[in-house]
Amino acid sequence: MADVDIKTIKKFVHPYRIRSGKGFRLKDIDPGDTHGLTSEFKGEAKALLEKGVRHLADVQARLYAQDRWSVLAMFQAMDAAGKDGTIKHVTSGVDPTGIQVYSFKAPSNEELDHDFLWRCLKSLPERGRIGVFNRSYYEEVLVVRVHPQYLQKQKLPPALITKNIWEERFEDIRNAERFLSRNGYLILKFFLHVSKKEQKKRFLERLDEPEKNWKFSAADAAERQHWSAYMAAYEDMIRNTATEYAPWYVVPADNKWFTRLVVVGAIIERMEALNLRFPDVDATKRKALAEARRMLVNEKANGKK
Ligand code: ATP
Ligand code: MG
Repeated sequence: MADVDIKTIKKFVHPYRIRSGKGFRLKDIDPGDTHGLTSEFKGEAKALLEKGVRHLADVQARLYAQDRWSVLAMFQAMDAAGKDGTIKHVTSGVDPTGIQVYSFKAPSNEELDHDFLWRCLKSLPERGRIGVFNRSYYEEVLVVRVHPQYLQKQKLPPALITKNIWEERFEDIRNAERFLSRNGYLILKFFLHVSKKEQKKRFLERLDEPEKNWKFSAADAAERQHWSAYMAAYEDMIRNTATEYAPWYVVPADNKWFTRLVVVGAIIERMEALNLRFPDVDATKRKALAEARRMLVNEKANGKK
């Protein structure tokens, strides 16, 4: 793997990484941004993405062999921002046994019978694995904030539902992520930032192309009516939950080729910083390996099965 290609991919990540929410403004990140690259770069971007995906597979093999760290990559976005496609492409080279993907939809009755982190915490990746959350507990400060009636269905004791509830959830999330990071989870949070105009274009494609019809639901168009409330909720969420140990990546999402590069670059960069290595083989193990080898070779020589 040419180092220079991986360096190029990583270069795209930095403007979109938010490690402290202080002073963060969503309008400072343009959904159409491509780091100055024009659409002529699209072909090259595809080749770079393939290299990034292959490199990620390599880093993942070390993560798995070392079996100490876990990686948790969470994806949040408005509909049609490209979560599914990004997850599919970015993880396409990774050994399926090393990756666990969960999608979180409207909560079931069983889920509503628990605290708001429960269903996500019980789906965390094991050590050595990459866990991908397609939506996450962040819905609890997004869709639930935009539609407060969902909060009423959460069976919380009424005395606990106060005007401070969002601040309290932010605090709980920060603390939970700190706890996880102290226990060996590498946390990456991606907000795929699509523009309202591009969403409309993609919705129309879903309506106009029969093989894309299944992807469209009437509820998607209804949610679009709450666009500015969602953007305000996203901005406040990022301000309150972007931390050094669990940064947000606000990824421009109007150009899929660019979105995918930024995401793969971010994962590679953070995983490489863990300095993952295949476990060392000590003298005892080396001896055992030599013995196993000797037995295998002799077996053949003796003509046994
Ligand atoms: P697709 O790309 O297939 O549309 P999706 O992630 O949008 O994928 P849907 O089944 O369309 O999947 O939508 C899931 C819905 O569940 C979203 O509207 C999301 O906001 C909602 N949801 C997720 N978590 C919660 C929650 N905790 N409370 C209420 N609604 C939630
Ligand atoms: Mg949807």
